[in-house]
Amino acid sequence: MSTKVLLIGLDSADPHLLSTWAAAGDLPALRSLSAAGGSGILKNEAYVADQGAWAGLVTAVGPAKHGFTHHRQMFPGSYETRSVRSDDLRAVPFWMQLSAQGRRVALIDTPRAPVATDLNGILLADWIVHPRLYRQTVSYPAELSAEIQATYGTDSTAAACEHRTEPLDLPTFVAGLEAGIRSKVRMVCDLLGREAWDLFAVTFKEAHCIGHHFWHVHDSGHPSHDPHVRQTFGDPLAQVYRATDDAIAAILERVSAETTVMVFTTLGMGPNYTGNHLLDAVLLRLEEKPGTTSALRSVWRRVGYRARVRLWSRLRPFAQRLRDSSLGGRSAFAVEYNEMAGAVVVNRRGRFPSGCVEPGAASDELCDFLQEELSRLVDADDGTPIVDHVVRTKDFTDGPHRDVLPDLLVVWRRDRPIASAASPRIGVVRGAYATRRSGSHTPDGMLLARRLGIAPGTPISGAQLMDIGPTVGALLGCQLDGLEGRPITALA
Ligand SMILES: [Zn+2]
Ligand SMILES: [Zn+2]
Repeated sequence: MSTKVLLIGLDSADPHLLSTWAAAGDLPALRSLSAAGGSGILKNEAYVADQGAWAGLVTAVGPAKHGFTHHRQMFPGSYETRSVRSDDLRAVPFWMQLSAQGRRVALIDTPRAPVATDLNGILLADWIVHPRLYRQTVSYPAELSAEIQATYGTDSTAAACEHRTEPLDLPTFVAGLEAGIRSKVRMVCDLLGREAWDLFAVTFKEAHCIGHHFWHVHDSGHPSHDPHVRQTFGDPLAQVYRATDDAIAAILERVSAETTVMVFTTLGMGPNYTGNHLLDAVLLRLEEKPGTTSALRSVWRRVGYRARVRLWSRLRPFAQRLRDSSLGGRSAFAVEYNEMAGAVVVNRRGRFPSGCVEPGAASDELCDFLQEELSRLVDADDGTPIVDHVVRTKDFTDGPHRDVLPDLLVVWRRDRPIASAASPRIGVVRGAYATRRSGSHTPDGMLLARRLGIAPGTPISGAQLMDIGPTVGALLGCQLDGLEGRPITALA
């Protein structure tokens, strides 16, 4: 007997680079995998990054059901932003249903995977991942983590990558990432040999780390690119991607031709350009409090007399508190999300302690107004639009945890740095984006897969990360309930 489904995650390996380098013959394992089977883009319409993307894979539902968007989130009931915890994940991993239906599963370093208290198989979390959720390696059964670390070591790059206080040394960092890949391959080959798994899933983090920190060495168009460094060290992304491809080749040698193999990347990587640093200042310019003359007055007028009276009667008792709390007094404000999209939250009554916007029509009108105004933002110097489009999260995700999500996503145009925002309504807001990371995420991931009977070169289209779990379920003959994702027809 052999493993039936092998799922290899390449965290944030860029789809464009993977395709280009595979086609050029630099990633032979991925090239032969896509030639023998199928490949395609995994759409990320929620523009979620690390947390949200992995939570979608793990739970096979959308963000309004799993509740994860960012490593720091604001939860209803408070204006405080805090780090997410494993128990903030509000949906159950899809493999729990496989386990309950008697399938043997092995989950190795799947980011955001909560540690099970009962599982027909094994789960190792936060051994070599980016970033860690538990701050230490944990497992089911509990003794597995100690065994793995004693035999295969620990991650030498995690602390430098996550708590970066000084510039990383490129050769040391790349060597550390390569060592981690080699340790993981040895460990995976060991576990694959121990028994016949129905599902064996493993994730490699390295493309994620190198992309965030050394994109500028890869990208000659990046403002921090130094041709001398590139000449001396070569392309660090290409080096790490090749090491990952070697790892895939070594693992594929251990599985039979009958094993369905899916290799996926959660997100892409590109230059770290964003307008997030300007967003809250823009919102403040658009802000109006009742009785003042600013942009939201027209919305206030459109709300309707009765709604206004209701709103005022609610607002008055909180007047002191509104003054005391900078966010409590706002109609809408920016929260952390990721560099792809700025996130706007409406300060709705019932959602926050000093919520001052009525749910329903008033909130919708405010969102319409903001959507229109934010879509108009341009670079102050040359008039180039800086916003690609603005989306309402309620248009693509629904569920019991919708209020954890922002209301609007301002998807930036990211082909160059954004240092100003201007519109007739707001005037000009300026500021440079300060970050230690030269690379950040682009929305879409990618899937490459082979299974017996699939026609070589099969296109995989219209799939999302949350479709992978249901696809695995279908391949293993399991009925999985309550999932939003659907089996990918080309594979299951
Ligand atoms: Zn990231
Ligand atoms: Zn990292």
